[in-house]
Amino acid sequence: MISICRDVERVLISEEEIQNRVRELGRQISGDYRGKRPILVAVLRGAIVFLCDLMRYMSIPVTVDFLSVSSYSGHIQTGVVRILKDLDENIEKRYVILIEDIVDTGLTLSYIIKTLKTRNPAHISVCALLDKRSRRVVDVPVDYVGFEIPDEFVVGYGMDYNQKYRNLPFIGVLRREILQG
Ligand code: 5GP
Repeated sequence: MISICRDVERVLISEEEIQNRVRELGRQISGDYRGKRPILVAVLRGAIVFLCDLMRYMSIPVTVDFLSVSSYSGHIQTGVVRILKDLDENIEKRYVILIEDIVDTGLTLSYIIKTLKTRNPAHISVCALLDKRSRRVVDVPVDYVGFEIPDEFVVGYGMDYNQKYRNLPFIGVLRREILQG
């Protein structure tokens, strides 16, 4: 842990701040979805830590499922992403809550929502830990937001850079030399 912490220039959101906010979100969603048994759909891999904490702060029964999509890098104009791992559950007539680590341009989410809507769920809502609103290219509804953050590349609490730093318990900004390789 110490060696990867050295790569972090600055802590943007501390472990305590994250836990307090995720607890609030868990309580809020539990209240909003009482009696509905929602499916929490985490988008792999960045949302796994958030999902694990969030579900433990929820007091209602939930189903958990996972979706993995390819990044649209190189295809940003179309916003088309590919499903690499589809859901195991049938979401017809179910209340779906998409769990995302971060909404940036909104292209990934908008594609996922469009795809899942064709399966006739009762309702789809979105819960994102982080929102980089200033970077939005497409308008996507984000129902629950942990924190709005500035346009900076962040790691930790599930989020990576070259598959590293997901296990940091806080959210931080990497030192410039690391990002430049
Ligand atoms: P969007 O389609 O909204 O542009 O991108 C969403 C995805 O891009 C996120 O789920 C995440 O995987 C990745 N992403 C966007 N910004 C960041 C960031 O600051 N740090 C990390 N680690 N991933 C990011």
